[in-house]
Amino acid sequence: MSKSYVRALKCRECGQEYPIEPTHVCEFCFGPLEVAYDYDRLKGKFTRELIESRPQTMWRYKELLPIDGEPTVGVQNGYTPLVRARNLEKYLGVSELYIKNDSVCYPTLSFKDRVVSVALSKAVEFGFTTVACASTGNLAGSVAANAAAAGLESYVFIPHDLEQGKVLGAGIFGTKIIGIRGKYDDVNRLCSEVAGKYGWAFVNVNVRPFYAEGSKSLGYEVMEQLGWKAPKHIVVPMASGSLCTKVDKSIKEFIKLGLIEDNGTAVYGAQATGCSPISKSVKEGTDLIHPVIADTIAKSLAIGNPADGYYANRVIHESGGWAEDISDQEVVDAMKLLAEKEGIFAETAGGVTLGCAQKMIESGRLPRDESIVLCITGNGLKTQEAVLNAYAKPRIIDASLKEFDLLAQADGVK
Ligand SMILES: *Cc1c(COP(=O)(O)O)cnc(C)c1O
Ligand SMILES: [Zn+2]
Repeated sequence: MSKSYVRALKCRECGQEYPIEPTHVCEFCFGPLEVAYDYDRLKGKFTRELIESRPQTMWRYKELLPIDGEPTVGVQNGYTPLVRARNLEKYLGVSELYIKNDSVCYPTLSFKDRVVSVALSKAVEFGFTTVACASTGNLAGSVAANAAAAGLESYVFIPHDLEQGKVLGAGIFGTKIIGIRGKYDDVNRLCSEVAGKYGWAFVNVNVRPFYAEGSKSLGYEVMEQLGWKAPKHIVVPMASGSLCTKVDKSIKEFIKLGLIEDNGTAVYGAQATGCSPISKSVKEGTDLIHPVIADTIAKSLAIGNPADGYYANRVIHESGGWAEDISDQEVVDAMKLLAEKEGIFAETAGGVTLGCAQKMIESGRLPRDESIVLCITGNGLKTQEAVLNAYAKPRIIDASLKEFDLLAQADGVK
């Protein structure tokens, strides 16, 4: 028998079970497939002590990640800092605020290194030698880097108009990078066809059920870093909505396995108004997701037809959370606020998370006196275009003390 605790792939709609194969839709009802585990067999064996005895990477929770053997790709990835945000607490008037800082995730500075580690380790187990993805930017970089390190061939597909940092941050690894004239949703549609024809492991198409599980590691880390406790509130940026659902799943799994107590955690979703199909559905009180044509500087979140939108909506609703969206100007303001208050330079998605949290604190949706975790998922150096005009440029002087004295005087330095 396999050492793995994975039981099957299971349809989220009709419950039909499938063997562990590179497949992602139910043959009966076209529902999405999800990895199911044998929690009963795991209970009592997967303990805090065991986890704490392992190296500080996302693989310390490997029993709850869907691979059979030891990981072979992204072995060192994950385990990013959880930062107590004291300056923002004061500024926002809240009592307990944390930042889960995946802007420094190894190796490509976004939480996508978590999902890619799992997807590529699984792809290797399945025997694939070429891996691929449809990406809004960060996924392309992560697939390219992790594939390079693992000696796999890679193809990454992106919208043609991404930020330079995202394009460079994928191309540098020697991947085959394809820019598509169109939005992410066009890229994704093409990739479904390519995946069917070429037989590659598309991390977010045919191996999506395995890929998506990698996001749970962010949630596990938050709970361990809080001292084996779930936060009362957690705010998650949403593109397809997958991360939002997997953070929720991670908490439910730790409760089921007796690793933490049920803290009644509420999950909150954040989007940019220019691409807000999920937050809109939550705010309108419906579970119907109306696809949109994305138009926002938060390109990493610009999925107009979100695959997991329905499930994210449900998680938010059932957990007692909420969703919000903010304008592009508010995204920039929040990026600056995070940088100036906490010394963290996050990408546009980070601005979305903080800005939406701020709006929900002001509206009373997020209470001021309970613990809140913000998931900051990507690095600001990759979305420089967004803030090029939002910071004070250097004042250029000669290397002369007299010239500096003039500046210091103007600044009122004594
Ligand atoms: C991909 C991405 C997300 C959200 O992804 P989901 O598709 O909702 O899981 C959030 N932040 C950043 C920076 C991303 O690249
Ligand atoms: Zn089904």
